Amino acid sequence: MYERCNKCNFKFEREPGFFFGAMFVSYALTAAEFITFSIISYFILGMSLTTTFFGVVVLAILLSTINFRLSRIIWMYIFTKTKSTKLPASGEI
Ligand SMILES: [Zn+2]
Repeated sequence: MYERCNKCNFKFEREPGFFFGAMFVSYALTAAEFITFSIISYFILGMSLTTTFFGVVVLAILLSTINFRLSRIIWMYIFTKTKSTKLPASGEI
């Protein structure tokens, strides 16, 4: 992860340990994904409990890097005041 934004020089980690709280956001994201996947796999597709469990494990591995970055982005949005409510361009984050 970059220390600062290369366009606006925004410092991402405001203080040491700032992203510690992003762990809780990551937990919430992961739980939401697990519950969604489990409901789809077990109740809608009718897969066995074992298949659903291993599907959840594979899902956790595949989405771990995405959840890591996404949780930090959400954490920064919670604690950063912005001048406007306009969302930044996709390449800016
Ligand atoms: Zn920027």
